[in-house]
Amino acid sequence: MNAPGVESRPSPIAGLGLFALRSFAPGERVAPYTGTTTTAPPDPGRPGAPTYTLEITPGLWLDGAADSNPARHANHSCEPNAELVYVGAEQTAWLTALGPVAVGEEITFDYGFSLAESLFHPCRCGAAGCVGRIIAGPLRGALRRHLRFSRPRD
Ligand SMILES: [Zn+2]
Repeated sequence: MNAPGVESRPSPIAGLGLFALRSFAPGERVAPYTGTTTTAPPDPGRPGAPTYTLEITPGLWLDGAADSNPARHANHSCEPNAELVYVGAEQTAWLTALGPVAVGEEITFDYGFSLAESLFHPCRCGAAGCVGRIIAGPLRGALRRHLRFSRPRD
């Protein structure tokens, strides 16, 4: 599957990023996130483990590391402009625009990492509300409270 509306190039967030070559409307499919699926969760304790294996629907993980995955360079952001939507009928996960995306904008989405995974993956997305770790949006409040209470005292 190809994705003519996007290209990979160096990103200010990390490594290569995925960038829009045209504008996208809210809800529009940006690119398929392709790979092999597995029901075995990835080992979160592997430092430096690649971030391509994502839980696309409860209990189903997708390893998108292959070069043939046009969306593999899409970075995580704490304030993303896209989301990963698994379409069961097509057995395909799609990066889908959350709002209007302008030409040249970097496509980002929430990797949805667990607390355990987040410990091994710092986030440098640069968003005002960045929590500093790649972690699923709904878990960010809990992580912030945890970091506040575990900080060394003066
Ligand atoms: Zn962030």
